[in-house]
Amino acid sequence: MDHQDCIFCKIINGEMPSAKVYEDEHVYAFLDISQVTKGHTLVIPKKHTKDLYDTPPEVAGELFARIPRIANAIKETYQPVGINLLNNNEKGAGQVIFHLHIHIIPRYEDDGFSF
Ligand code: 5GP
Ligand code: ZN
Repeated sequence: MDHQDCIFCKIINGEMPSAKVYEDEHVYAFLDISQVTKGHTLVIPKKHTKDLYDTPPEVAGELFARIPRIANAIKETYQPVGINLLNNNEKGAGQVIFHLHIHIIPRYEDDGFSF
């Protein structure tokens, strides 16, 4: 069920464009519109939950179960020297989009990224 006015729900249902990285029944992954490093990807559950606090264990499980596969695809495509996962919950932690998402951030020598 889509959440009204949620950008990421609109991306999942195709109302808004995205550069898709991976999709299955439960999960959608796409390139961040403002990549902090090359290949910066967002992984989201198709079921709308606003953050980790709001997420049933089975939804979190389905989401995290896909991450190794997506991370391997990113590693193969972009050949980073490593990756970071990042997940912001609530405004105070920098959350801007209130549909749960995991950032996969590929790392490169001297990329200058820090969090
Ligand atoms: P947050 O700060 O909520 O963890 O991260 C939200 C992320 O979503 C940001 O990195 C931002 O660049 C990305 N983002 C925001 N709007 C869009 C969009 O319309 N399309 C894509 N692909 N990424 C978006
Ligand atoms: Zn949503």
